[in-house]
Amino acid sequence: MRLVILGPPGAGKGTQAASIVKEYQVPHISTGDIFRDNIKRGTDLGKKAKSYMDEGGLVPDELVNEIVIDRIKQDDCKDGFLLDGFPRTTNQAVVLDAALEAMKTKLDRAINIQVDTDLLVNRATGRRVCPECGETYHISNNPPKEAGICDHDGAKLIQRDDDKEETVAKRISVYESQTAPLIDYYKGQGLLLNVNGSQEIDQVFEDIKKGLGESRNQ
Ligand code: ADP
Ligand code: ADP
Repeated sequence: MRLVILGPPGAGKGTQAASIVKEYQVPHISTGDIFRDNIKRGTDLGKKAKSYMDEGGLVPDELVNEIVIDRIKQDDCKDGFLLDGFPRTTNQAVVLDAALEAMKTKLDRAINIQVDTDLLVNRATGRRVCPECGETYHISNNPPKEAGICDHDGAKLIQRDDDKEETVAKRISVYESQTAPLIDYYKGQGLLLNVNGSQEIDQVFEDIKKGLGESRNQ
């Protein structure tokens, strides 16, 4: 199963991706996580990406495309993968299609998580993440057992630098102008699976499984 998951910042892509990869046993490739890991390790890529991310803008395509294309060529991706946060521009989508074509394969589905804009800011500003294992929580919608502490490893949860309210607003507008056109792009290819992401986390996942199951039975 070769999948991409689309949606505005805070839609629940990462949350659903975690369940999808468990269910379908494919690698989870999150470009946001790749950049954050590079920033943490102080690599050249991390240094280059950080200024764009802190401002709520997109990292330039030439820094993103190669990383993702190299990653999907790795052995563990030969039976499938889930791309989360990529593609984010039409150029990225075209480059991905060309790379898959060269590998004699193609995407199976593009999952589009639709969420009312008024919910997005609260979801992103209330997001807390574990700096150790990457688990995502929400201060009220999906809280850890003990406030501020990761359920898995006891680490102190942090807020992402780009989850401050002003930056979230900027990211949503960047999404509208640069990424939302991909919905029509994948619709045109007959790959789009729209899912109502304003529902509870478990219900969103049920709808994704149902949609993917239907597509597989076709
Ligand atoms: P994205 O990867 O699209 O930016 P996340 O999966 O990190 O989004 O989710 C953003 C925040 O919203 C997190 O704090 C997460 O716990 C919370 N969240 C995710 N899905 C839902 C949902 N269906 N209902 C309520 N809160 C959600
Ligand atoms: P969210 O899930 O909340 O939308 P991500 O973790 O996917 O956030 O991405 C965080 C930031 O990393 C983005 O705002 C952007 O600066 C950068 N980024 C991630 N993926 C891409 C991409 N495919 N192209 C350009 N920039 C990206």
